[in-house]
Amino acid sequence: MAMSVEKHVLIVAGSDSSGGAGIARDVETVSAFGLRSCLAVTAVTVQTHHAVERVEQMPPDLIAAQMRAAFAANAIVAVKIGMLGTVDAINAVASVLASRPPLPVVLDPVLASSSGRALLAADAVACLKRKLMPLCSLVTPNLPELALLSGVSLTTNEGEIIHHARELAEAGGPALLVKGGHADGDRSADLLVRIGRQPLPFEAPRLDVQMRGTGCMLASAIAARLGLGDDLETAVARGKDHVFDKLSRARR
Ligand code: PLP
Repeated sequence: MAMSVEKHVLIVAGSDSSGGAGIARDVETVSAFGLRSCLAVTAVTVQTHHAVERVEQMPPDLIAAQMRAAFAANAIVAVKIGMLGTVDAINAVASVLASRPPLPVVLDPVLASSSGRALLAADAVACLKRKLMPLCSLVTPNLPELALLSGVSLTTNEGEIIHHARELAEAGGPALLVKGGHADGDRSADLLVRIGRQPLPFEAPRLDVQMRGTGCMLASAIAARLGLGDDLETAVARGKDHVFDKLSRARR
């Protein structure tokens, strides 16, 4: 069967029936950059904007089979990984990625919904760090996610944030973009932390607007830009611009 030559981003993520986060956000973001999406659904979630009512995990072999079929059918230029849910899902995704030539992979380590429901099993954090992070180009934790990945309590101290992010990168992880949205202040500052380089801040004015799925949007936008050939710093800057633009429009 013919392979599509159009550039695709492979989205490995969960669906959110409310449309506020997850796959719906990822697809809309990827298409805003003129790319097409293909999918590996990891979980189906039943959500309103206020609560997660139900989560059904897809079987790991079904997740892996979706990924393999997506690679067979399309020219995939980047991968965005969102909600994984379980150790078995992480192992399935990691084994398919490890069998492929390297390509840009952006991992949004989705641990919980903003309503507070856990979306990653407690025993899965170690597996995420050991098996999946080394296969990624960028991991985009917010401050609570950084704390959980690092096994420490939440901190908004910049020195501590850089220290924990460096430790994760040194443990075989890739670059980390630590999202400061959960810190205080009138600017939203994210920090790009890489081994052997100075941490690089990306700042934008903080907008007084609530929107779900901004984490999904940012990771998908960066994956799309990396797939289009941007270097990491440019991709992060353009990804942030995209989210800022969406938030500004929502406020209006
Ligand atoms: N539901 C799914 C399926 C997600 O992938 C995510 C985040 O990536 C969320 C919920 C959390 O989104 P929010 O923080 O907007 O609740």
